[in-house]
Amino acid sequence: MSERGAVFIVSAPSGSGKSTLVTSLLQKVPNLTFSISYTTRQPRGEEVDGKEYFFVNEAAFEKMIAEDQFIEYAKVFDHYYGTARAYLERALAEGKDLILDIDTEGAAQVKNKLPEAISIFIMPPSYEALRKRLENRRQDSSETIQKRLTWAGQKEIYRYRNYDYVVVNEDLKQSFDLMRGIILAERCRRDRMTARVQSIIQTFGGK
Ligand code: 5GP
Repeated sequence: MSERGAVFIVSAPSGSGKSTLVTSLLQKVPNLTFSISYTTRQPRGEEVDGKEYFFVNEAAFEKMIAEDQFIEYAKVFDHYYGTARAYLERALAEGKDLILDIDTEGAAQVKNKLPEAISIFIMPPSYEALRKRLENRRQDSSETIQKRLTWAGQKEIYRYRNYDYVVVNEDLKQSFDLMRGIILAERCRRDRMTARVQSIIQTFGGK
């Protein structure tokens, strides 16, 4: 029998390098699966429905809220984002370790319902560093950048207190190594090893 999968929550202020880190982890750490969220925002660039997100309209999202289909959801910068309970449960039952790239509000809801979830907060090294990154990626207007910086400074970064781990992203390679280390160590927790250890004990003739 395989163990039930683990849930890894990753949050960060916009521009902290989270997407890059999550993408590298998914490519390089075996048995890690991305939890595909539902959102009401429009697909960007090359995004494909059912890969990065399930793209739905507001009416469909609100129907799912009314039917209590989300383990968590939040409105982030004017759009709904949510994790479907059935999707998450199915993946975990299949023994998959899931990575949830979700905002701080959604993270608190998941921790409430699944206290065994492991949460990682990615912190920018400074306000200036975050401002530069948001400007350099040339994705947002200066108004949007200002909105994100204000939100980060007034609300988001203080929520690091609700997380199990904090990774200060000074250097992508170093942050990747830290996050990989956290995931691998968490997988060795005794309570996650029960099924494996049990089968080893049987080879000794024990039960
Ligand atoms: P983006 O639109 O750039 O893909 O994501 C915007 C923000 O929404 C990011 O901070 C991302 O972590 C968050 N987000 C993505 N999916 C979910 C979700 O299912 N639930 C919550 N609460 N936040 C999400």
